[in-house]
This record gives sequence, C-alpha cells and structure tokens, in this order.
Amino acid sequence: MQRVLVTGAGGFIGHHLVTFLKERGYWVRGVDLKYPEFTEVDADEFELLDLRRRDDALVAARGVDEVYALAADMGGMGFISSNHATILHNNALINLHTIEAARLNGVERYLYSSSACIYPEHLQANADVAPLREEDAYPANPQDAYGWEKLISERLCEYYTEEHGLPTRSVRFHNVYGPYGTYDGGREKAPAALCRKVAEAETGGTVEIWGDGEQTRSFCYVTDCVEGIYRIMQSDHAEPLNLGTDRMITINELAWLVIEVSSKQGLRLEHVEGPQGVRGRNSDNSKLREVLGWEPGISLEDGLVPTYRWIAEQVERRAGREAEVGLLYSA
Ligand code: NAD
Repeated sequence: MQRVLVTGAGGFIGHHLVTFLKERGYWVRGVDLKYPEFTEVDADEFELLDLRRRDDALVAARGVDEVYALAADMGGMGFISSNHATILHNNALINLHTIEAARLNGVERYLYSSSACIYPEHLQANADVAPLREEDAYPANPQDAYGWEKLISERLCEYYTEEHGLPTRSVRFHNVYGPYGTYDGGREKAPAALCRKVAEAETGGTVEIWGDGEQTRSFCYVTDCVEGIYRIMQSDHAEPLNLGTDRMITINELAWLVIEVSSKQGLRLEHVEGPQGVRGRNSDNSKLREVLGWEPGISLEDGLVPTYRWIAEQVERRAGREAEVGLLYSA
C-alpha cells in the first residue's frame, strides 16, 4: 500500500484530498496546525505539527512514499493584501522544511501547491485579460508576497529535482471553492464570502462587494481540483502547470449566480471600498489539456449549489446558537 503525506490536511483542499486518496486505497498521514474544522478526520493518522519547525517537518515526512505539500498561511484578498511579512516568513519556512524533510526521508514524489498569484501583475491589469499561460510567469512580478513566495518555492522544487533527484510537481491553482472551506473570520475567499453574505441577507437586503465588482476571475470546484492534483502527481510533467477552469466571470456575475442559487428575492449588490487584487485573471488550460487529456469540468452553476447549501447551513446553525445564548442571558 502506498503511503502518502498530505500537509495542510486540516484545511479546505487538503481535507478533500485526504478523502479522495483514502477512497483510492492509499494510507494517508495528515499534518496540520489544526484538525479539520468542519468534518471528521479521514486520514489513517493525523498529527498536529508546525511545519515552520524543521524537527516537526522531519516527523511529518517519516516513512512516506509521496508528499502532497498543501500547508500554507493563506486566505482571501483581505488577508493576502495586508500580511506580507507574516505570509512570506511562514510559508517560506514551511516549504523549505517540508521539501528538505521529504528528501531526507527518501520520498519518491513531491507535489507542491502553487497559485495563479505567481503571475505578473502587469499582465492582469484589465478585466478582459488574456488567459495566463505557464510561460507568462517570467519576467516575474507577482502582486503580493504570497505570490513571490509561491514562485520561489516552485523554483525550490525545480532545484531539488536537479540537484537531489527528487521528482517534483508544481500546480498553480486558480480560485478553488466548495463546501468545508473557511467562509468567515477574514481569511475567506470571494465565493465563500459571497455565499455567506447572501445567506445572511434578508429579503430585499444588500450584498456587499469589494470595489466595483467588475474584476474578473475563473473558479474551480474542489472535487475537480483534487482530481487534477492527483492526475498531475501521476503524470510525468515536472514543470509548473495551471489547474483551474478557463471560464472568466466578473465578481458581480458571481454574486448574481449565488443569489440565483439561494432563490432569495429582491437582493441588491452594494459596492464598497475593499482590496480587489489584480483586475482580471483567467487560466489558459492548453498545457493542462495537452499533458493530462483532462481539465476541470464542473460548472460554476453546479458547484455553487452544494457550496451555498453548506455555507447557508453553517450560517443558520450559528444564528440558532446565538439565539440560544441570547435566551440564556435573558432568562
Ligand atoms: P487552507 O488555509 O484551508 O489550508 C491550509 C492549511 O495549512 C490550514 O489548515 C493551515 O492550518 C495549515 N497550515 C498553516 N501553517 C501551517 C504550519 N506552520 N504547519 C502546518 N500546517 C499549517 O487553504 P486551502 O485553500 O486548502 O489551500 C491549500 C493550498 O493551496 C495552499 O498552499 C494555498 O496557498 C494553495 N492555493 C489555494 C487556492 C484556493 O483557491 N483555495 C488558490 C491557490 C493556491
């Protein structure tokens, strides 16, 4: 039985990946600073470790054949645009230690979760941006420290392959969404934040959008993302590869799709000041199709249904708990 390590297994994509790998018969160790927040642990073994520490990383990687390195200090634009030093410091340490621990433990294959945030800011200045091809990454000019660190860690993977013979894969995710992800607290990304805002809105109420909402993105449902991760790990493609959909829509359009899924009547969008990230971003999937003969296929309309339903349930549950606490205090 193949033994694999998933780091960041207490997080959104990591948790889904553990479930996917278990269903395919792998023995899985999950590692994170925290247990999955919204579900049971699916992993055979789950260890609370801090990968910023070399000794913890060495413990995490012991006795495994493959590593899926998903751990990162990350969040949506609100978090990424205002924590540059923390993000660069924490993520650089995590990735330096994790790949070195993999090497020292004789790991056979290593997959690194990179991001579309590595692409140069100047190629994403317009809403109707050309889809980003893998080779557009250089000359490098990512917008935030988050993207710079991802780019350096991609290079780290390439150098570990060249110098130490460790086979690596780097996958550039484009806006992954789905159930069991962070939906409030400041680290949530746009689809989850919009689902929460719509779920909280009263009939005839408003849904806040950061900026004019005309900024564009493409979105990938989480089950497509974990399948893509797995296929890329099995492939022999060592260079960085996009993983996303190539359907670009505005944040306003995304908000209206969520409202449609919610069946709520009379809601309006209210545009407020807020960090927006780059103006436009889309994935060019030509290389992904060429390498895998596959690309993400779940439509936004289909993926938003379970995502909205799950977030609306969380919002309802929380409101119920708050009402109970209110009753307790008023009694
Ligand atoms: P997430 O925040 O839900 O998961 C990341 C996990 O890493 C968290 O559970 C966190 O506790 C853990 N972690 C942070 N610091 C750690 C440490 N020092 N030691 C051990 N664990 C630590 O994020 P996610 O959306 O599941 O993202 C997974 C990976 O994919 C990340 O590397 C992220 O940068 C990348 N990515 C995600 C997206 C997206 O749209 N979700 C887009 C591009 C790239």
